[in-house]
Order: sequence, then structure tokens, then C-alpha cells
Amino acid sequence: MSTPEAAPSLDFIRERITADLAAGKNGGKVITRFPPEPNGYLHIGHAKSICLNFGIARQFKGVCHLRFDDTNPTREDVEYVNSIQEDVRWLGFDWADKKFYASDYFEKLYQFAVELIKRGKAFVCDLTPEEMIQYRGAPSVPGKESPYRNRPIAENLDLFQRMRNGEFADGSRTLRAKIDINSPNIHMRDPAIYRIRKAEHHRTGNQWCIYPMYDFAHCLSDMIEGITHSICTLEFEVHRPLYDWILDVLETPCHPQQIEFARLNLNYTVMSKRKLLELVQENRVTGWDDPRMPTVAGMRRRGYTPESIREFADRVGVAKRENIIDLALLEYCVREDLNKRSLRAMGVLRPIKVILDNYPEGQVEELEAINNPEDPAAGTRKVPFSKELYIDQEDFRENPPPKYFRLTPGGEVRLRYAYIIKCVQVVKNAQGDVVELHCTIDPGSKSGGPTSNRKIKGTIHWVSASHSIPAEVRLYDRLFTVEDPGREQEGVDWKSNINPHSLEVLTQCRLEPSLTKATAGERYQFERQGYFCVDARDSAPGKLVFNRTVTLRDTWAKIEGKSQG
Ligand code: ATP
Ligand code: MG
Repeated sequence: MSTPEAAPSLDFIRERITADLAAGKNGGKVITRFPPEPNGYLHIGHAKSICLNFGIARQFKGVCHLRFDDTNPTREDVEYVNSIQEDVRWLGFDWADKKFYASDYFEKLYQFAVELIKRGKAFVCDLTPEEMIQYRGAPSVPGKESPYRNRPIAENLDLFQRMRNGEFADGSRTLRAKIDINSPNIHMRDPAIYRIRKAEHHRTGNQWCIYPMYDFAHCLSDMIEGITHSICTLEFEVHRPLYDWILDVLETPCHPQQIEFARLNLNYTVMSKRKLLELVQENRVTGWDDPRMPTVAGMRRRGYTPESIREFADRVGVAKRENIIDLALLEYCVREDLNKRSLRAMGVLRPIKVILDNYPEGQVEELEAINNPEDPAAGTRKVPFSKELYIDQEDFRENPPPKYFRLTPGGEVRLRYAYIIKCVQVVKNAQGDVVELHCTIDPGSKSGGPTSNRKIKGTIHWVSASHSIPAEVRLYDRLFTVEDPGREQEGVDWKSNINPHSLEVLTQCRLEPSLTKATAGERYQFERQGYFCVDARDSAPGKLVFNRTVTLRDTWAKIEGKSQG
């Protein structure tokens, strides 16, 4: 694992920036930006882009702008604007006073479009959207010039002004760049740069009824802000000639360098915002912050730390080619980080009562337990021990399989921080279910006692029945059952890949009393069970809800037979 002091190794983007700085480009400045469209919550893929853009700014002593790319009025919302800011901050990054909106540039962008018309490089086209697609052709099919392509400049200026004035219906006209209808690059075949959209915008209201297209708005927004390196995902590589064309034709004072990298893909995960929105709208999950969602809000609620997400982004690195990352790597980073920082506690998820026949009625001992073996400074705490305990159902087997080192009839096991116990009687109900275990303690087996060093193979966790506190615990599994759940297949709904067992709610859990003080968002390791986080949304005074963040080991690897945990 890389140490915080070690300089991050140079990927191809950082190499390029280093070379630009060495060549004295951009006056020695590095300005990047993170440009989300506020039409959904940020997900782990965005987190990677955030770590990259803000990380580069930090490393090269530059700045990174947060720019809302809000040029599509119908899908955007302030709820998203707010959640995006919260998530970027939570990930540990800061845009200082560099928060911008593409919509702030609408007037400037309009003027740039007018300038293109004046330079004979844009025209108002009356083809319908369907006709435009037809005329444009395909990479192997030659394009056909629009009959409106050679309109006089004055007529274009007049029509564009009238588009702005709202004189024409949605879809009836567009402003198009005049480039090359036979370019091998489809994006250069006289692309539309403005369209009519009589829709209210979340920031500009009804001030505009024409909106710039992404390619036109993006390069010019970068230019207006003096971005030096405009880092984006690979699918924009084919848009780069258009990005450059617009800036060249307008002879802008600065020309940001677009650099593309491969987007993050994770198995067992969908990352399309459209699909994530569908999950939310159809109540397949409880919201954008459902702990099973790959959103930053969901991961935060589940208990992931910003440090673990940043570490994950670092490990994944920056690639030039598409690849798929194993979700297990993300979980590994979370586990590693939580192991270092989280306090230990004992919690029984599926309780079964244990009565210690030879332990005095009414006696309570306060036993010392270590808060975090990875961090001596975390100290110790007292855990009450008494005649009646709870242990987890799976720590007892009436008919144990081979190598089962937990409690069995007549067998012995050590209770963590306490005594060795022996099971002397199994009590069952009328249905034959085990409801209670009677055990005896070895009184000398407590830490420091004469028989404390006896060789006992298993150690299990427990809580004192009367001292323990109730809690609800939610166990999560992967949201999808297949590696590539978002793949579009003829006649198959991608949502049929949802894992019906992705959530298990346990309502009878009993936790050690020190957890009474647990507050929203706090993370603990429940010994032998995994890492858990107090649910910030559903916990209330008197009602403690924990989310399981991650198991102690990769349980999927176990199921697939890769390891025997
Ligand atoms: P949309 O289809 O709505 O445009 P998007 O995922 O591209 O979805 P944006 O809000 O436009 O969402 O993305 C903001 C930034 O995050 C962009 O620079 C984009 O390239 C980057 N980004 C989005 N998804 C990923 C990903 N999976 N890996 C890396 N970067 C990503
Ligand atoms: Mg996008």
C-alpha cells in the first residue's frame, strides 16, 4: 500500500501535465475541473473522476473547479446540485470559491454562437431531428448537405435571434456548425450546437428557450474558466476534434487540452445514472442513498470511509483502455481502512440464550475488553458478564460438521474476554428447535486464572442477556447476481438481474451495552461478524439500526471455493 508521503506514480495524464509544466505551457498553471450534470447522485465512477481531477490539482499546486454542466433543463434538479456538493466535500475535496454553472455562461455562449454565424461557420437549419439524422448518414454512409446550409449570414443571424425570442416551436430549427458533412467522424458532420427547448431551467427559469448542446457548451465553459487540462472519459475522444474546432474557429485566447481516460467499470454494479434513477423511481431500492447503491451517498450511509474510496481510486489508477474492476477490490480497501480505525464491540445477531448453571444468580462481573488491537491508544472498556448470556445461533451445532470448533453438546468453547464454558443440556421446544442451552463455566479459566491457558480451539462472542441492548441490523449483499447487470439484451429486462437476497433485516439482535452511546454514522467492528455503521437515517432515540458495511473476509470468495474462512 502506498504511504501518504510517497509521491503518486506518474500515470499518462500526470506525465503529460509534468511535461506541459516543464515546457512552460499555461504560464505554469494547472487548472482542472469536475463537471457533473446535476441529473442524479454521484456514484463510484464519479468518485474516481473527482479523485483524479482534484487530486491532480492538489499534487501540482493548482486548482480544480466544480462546474455544474446544467445545459439540459428537463432532467436537472437542485436536489442533485446539493447532493453533489455534499458528496465532493465528504470525499475530502474543496473547490474553494471555484463553483460555477454552465448556465451562468448562457449569454456568453449565445454570443459565441453569433460569432460563429458571422464567421460563416454556423447556420440555422430547418430540418426536423429525424431528417437531420437521415441526412447525416453513418460512418460508412456518406452524408448529405442540409438544403439550409448556405443561408446568407444575415438570414442566419435573424433566424437565430428569433429562435432565442421564442418564435419557433421545439424541434423546428437548430443552429448547426458548418464543418464537413462527409467527415469520417460523425461528430464533425455539421453537428447541432443549439436547439429550441421551451422548458424551465432550475436556475435561469424561463429566460431561455434555446439551449446549447453539450459539445458546444463544454469546450467554451472550459475556455471561459481558463481550464488547462480538461480530463474526461474515453467516449469523448471522438468529440475532441469538435472541441478543438470550435475553439480554433473562434480564435479563443486560451485553448484547454482535452485528455481522455477509461471510465471506471465495476462488476456486479450498474453505473448509468438512467438505470440508477430507474431503481429509485421503481422502489427497487429505498432511495439514492440506499446502502446497496453504488452512489457516494449510499456508500457513506453503508459505512464506507472517504479514505477507503480514495485508496480504491488510487489503486485502480488511470488507464487508456476500458477494463472492469472487481467489486472485491473496493470492499478490500474498505475493510483495510476500517480494520485500522474502528472500535471493536460484541454483538449477537441471531441470539440463542445460554444459562450458566454454576454461575451465581445476581452476580455481575465487569470484564476488560480491548477496543482496537490495531490501535493501542484506543484503550479498553468494561463488558458486563452474568448468569444469562446470548450467543449467536451459528456458534452452536447439535450435530457439528468436522472441524467445527464452536459450541456442541458436551463440548467446550472459550467466551471472548471471559470463561471457558461447557454445554451440558440442550433445551428444545415442541417443534424441536433449540431454544436454550445450559452450560457450566470453568471458574479458573478467566484471564489470569489457573486454568486460563487450557487449549480450547474456539472462541466465540457473547453478550450478557439482561445488560444487552436491542438493535436492528441490516445485512447487505451485492445488488445484482451477474457480473455485467447493465448489459442490454434483446428481450431481457436488466432488472431481472437484481439479487432478491441483497437485503436481510435482523430485528432481534442484542448488542453489548457500551453501544448505547453509538451515534449516527459511527462505525464498529462487531467481533467475528464484520464492520457495521449506525444508520443515520433510520436510527432514532431508543431505536438503534446498524448497517453491515462489509464482512470481515471476502465471503464471495468463500462461496466460490477460493478460500476456506
Ligand atoms: P450522463 O449520461 O448523465 O452524462 P455521466 O456518468 O457522464 O452521465 P456526468 O455528470 O456527465 O455523468 O459526469 C461527470 C463527470 O464524471 C464527467 O467528467 C464524467 O466523464 C465522469 N464520470 C462519469 N462516470 C464515470 C466513470 N464510470 N468513471 C470515471 N469517470 C466518470
Ligand atoms: Mg456526461
